[in-house]
Amino acid sequence: MAQKLFLLPGDGIGTEIMAEVAKIIAYLNSQGETDFELDSGLAGGAAYDKYGVAISDEDMGKALAADAVIFGAVGGPKWDNVPYEHRPEAALLRLRKELAVFANLRPAICYPALADASALKRELIEGLDILIVRELTGGVYFGEPKTITDLGNGQKRAIDTQVYETYEIDRIARVAFDLARTRGHKVHSADKKNVMKSGVLWDEVVKTVAKDYSDVTMHHILADNCAMQLVRNPRQFDVIVTDNLFGDILSDTAAMLTGSLGMLPSASLGAPDATTGKRKAFYEPVHGSAPDIAGQGIANPIAMIASFAMALRYSFGMIELANRVEAAIAGVLGDGLRTGDIAQDNRRTIGTEAMGAAILAKLK
Ligand code: NAD
Repeated sequence: MAQKLFLLPGDGIGTEIMAEVAKIIAYLNSQGETDFELDSGLAGGAAYDKYGVAISDEDMGKALAADAVIFGAVGGPKWDNVPYEHRPEAALLRLRKELAVFANLRPAICYPALADASALKRELIEGLDILIVRELTGGVYFGEPKTITDLGNGQKRAIDTQVYETYEIDRIARVAFDLARTRGHKVHSADKKNVMKSGVLWDEVVKTVAKDYSDVTMHHILADNCAMQLVRNPRQFDVIVTDNLFGDILSDTAAMLTGSLGMLPSASLGAPDATTGKRKAFYEPVHGSAPDIAGQGIANPIAMIASFAMALRYSFGMIELANRVEAAIAGVLGDGLRTGDIAQDNRRTIGTEAMGAAILAKLK
C-alpha cells in the first residue's frame, strides 16, 4: 500500500531545498524502491498570503492523515508585522501540538570530509555519531504558572515552572532506549537531580525504564557536565536523552560540533498508535528560511535531504535506503563538492540544484 508523504516547503529557501527532496522521491518511486503518495501544502507566510492563517485546516488535516510530514522552513521579513497568532512560526507550533510529537531527535554526525570545518580538532570529532533525544512538549517552556508579577515596589517577579509527570518521562525514555538498540546500545540521561525535584523524578523514571532494556547501558550525567563533555570528548556519547530545556541547549551544542546549520536534520515523533503501532512524525531541517539567501539558488539542501533520510529510517523502517541516502551525501562531500555555507578557502562552490543533482547521481 502506498505510504502518504505530506510536503510543506514553507517560505524562503524552504521551497528551493524541498524541490531537491521531491526529485529524490520521484526517482525512488520510478525505480519501485518506494511507493510514496505525495501531496503538498502551504505553511507559514505562503499560507498566510493565500488563506490569512499560518496553516489552513485543510492542510492540517492532510498532515494528520499522512504517514510522515516533511517540512522546509517558514518565516521572513515580509511577514514580520502580521497579527501574532498568524505569524509564520504559528504553523510549526500548531503542527507540533496537533501531531503531538513529544520526541525530538537531533543527530550530530561528523562527515569525514567536513571534519576540519569543526571548531574542535579532527581527532576529537572524526567518526562522531550522537543522537540527542529531547522531550519537546513538556517542562519549563509549558509549565504553569508562567507569569511576571509587578510587586509594586519597583520590583517584578518572573516565574516559569518546570513540571514533568511520570508518563512524560517514561515515554521519552522508551524512545531513547529503543533507538539505542538500533545503534550503540548506550544511553546517557542528562538532568539536574542535584538541585531540581524534576531531575530526581526524571532519573528515577529513566532508571526504571532502563530495567526493561538489559541490552542497553544507561549512564546518568548532570546536564552541565554533559555540556562540558560534549566539547571535551564528544565521542563517548551514543544516545543522550534529556528534558525540553536542557535538550534545547545540548542539541545545539552537539549539532555545531559538526559544522554548518545547512547540514543539520531533525525528526519529531509522537506516540505509537494503539492499533497500527505507527507514530505521527514530522521531519525538518534545523535551520530557518534564510531570507538573506532566498531566491538565489545557493542554499544547502543537505539538511533537508538528510531529514528525508530520517523519515525513511524512523517512519518507514527503510534502514538500508536511509543508509544509502546518507552515504550519497557523504560521497559528494568526499568528492569535494560544497555549497557556499560549507566551503573552505578558495573552493569552487555549487548551488542548490547542482548539490541535489550530485546527491541523486550518487544514489543512482
Ligand atoms: P536561518 O537558519 O534562516 O539562517 C541563519 C543563517 O544561516 C543565515 O545566514 C542563512 O543564510 C544561513 N543558512 C541557514 N540555512 C542555510 C542553508 N540551508 N544553506 C545555506 N545557508 C543557510 O535563521 P534566521 O536568519 O535567524 O531566521 C530567518 C527566518 O527563519 C526567520 O523568519 C525565523 O523566524 C525563521 N526560522 C524558521 C525556522 C523553522 O521554520 N523551523 C527555524 C529558525 C528560524
